[in-house]
Amino acid sequence: MTDTLFSKIINREIPADIVYEDDLCLAFHDITPQAPVHILIIPKQAIVKIADAAESDQSLLGHLLLKARVIAKEQGYEDAFRLVINNGSAAGQTVFHLHVHILAGRQFNWPPG
Ligand code: AMP
Repeated sequence: MTDTLFSKIINREIPADIVYEDDLCLAFHDITPQAPVHILIIPKQAIVKIADAAESDQSLLGHLLLKARVIAKEQGYEDAFRLVINNGSAAGQTVFHLHVHILAGRQFNWPPG
């Protein structure tokens, strides 16, 4: 996998407003927030998109979701938040390093558009 913006953030080659880090993942504020809280949580292991994840990534993917829950709670949104994973350009993915958007702090509509 080629270097992306997000691998550069992991390697501290470009700055980010980091809110959480452990051996497996990193979470930081989105540079163009779409809600009062908009945080991205990414695996340190480079997975291009969720469609490329393997069975062996099961615990890593679970880790991302469970940490997303903790981060939403820490931001003050235990009960109402939205998690989004865009997979592929047609679905809105622009950075090709798997990431989960954590959005909170406003009303969210459905369908998402
Ligand atoms: P997606 O469109 O699902 O691939 O999401 C990519 C997200 O990365 C967008 O919400 C961008 O605003 C965000 N983004 C792009 N560059 C940066 C950056 N340098 N730091 C933080 N977030 C970024």
